Amino acid sequence: MNLTVGVLALQGGFSEHLDLLRNAVDHLSSTEVYSTTNFVLTEVRTPDQLAQCNALIIPGGESTAISFVAAQSGLLEPLRDFVKVQKRPTWGTCAGLILLSDEANATKKGGQELIGGLSVRVHRNHFGRQIESFESDLDLPFLQSESDLVPFSGVFIRAPVVEEVLSNNNDLRSPVEVLAKLPGRVNKMKSGLSQANTKDDAGDIIAVRQGNILGTSFHPELTKDARIHVWWLKQILNQQ
Ligand code: GLN
Repeated sequence: MNLTVGVLALQGGFSEHLDLLRNAVDHLSSTEVYSTTNFVLTEVRTPDQLAQCNALIIPGGESTAISFVAAQSGLLEPLRDFVKVQKRPTWGTCAGLILLSDEANATKKGGQELIGGLSVRVHRNHFGRQIESFESDLDLPFLQSESDLVPFSGVFIRAPVVEEVLSNNNDLRSPVEVLAKLPGRVNKMKSGLSQANTKDDAGDIIAVRQGNILGTSFHPELTKDARIHVWWLKQILNQQ
């Protein structure tokens, strides 16, 4: 079986994603089940390169810059088609999650173009500015088969959260699955209290999946941990 996985390489952490994809592929190729799979990993900057891909990662970075360059490169419509019409597996991290959402809050003045596909509304820069970046050990239940229960180090940099799952009763999309939450922080907008002193047991939604689309608020590509990449590739291969 052949699997070509692209990483949108317009801005942001694309080379870091490719490094982790290489690690994930090395790992999978050493297992009996996937030893015959032919993986091709590639940077995507043009519609032709996108058309070669069976699956795509949209990295973290700056969503406004990525969509601006995508529009300039004639990639915005092909990306929408790839995600929403052809429904090929697509994973967005941080800025990538924003781009894959149907709606975003706290957008650039004048609005910003999204690719869409996930029936959610994200809140950009939910935890504040760059200086308020943080790392947090995450319990990611979907990783259980890969993880031996070792927590995943979540890197949050001007990260969005999913503030609302939108009703999609009127379309044919699968329901949105909430895959992970970040407990122990509170939505400053709602409470007016400082994050550090308050707990919100419900937690912020930081990972979702809807059909072919996966979105995570944090940056696995800024760690050395390829478990989510391995898990995502396996999901794709098991559906082929
Ligand atoms: N806040 C950024 C944006 O709106 C995302 C930050 C990131 O990807 N680290 O694009």
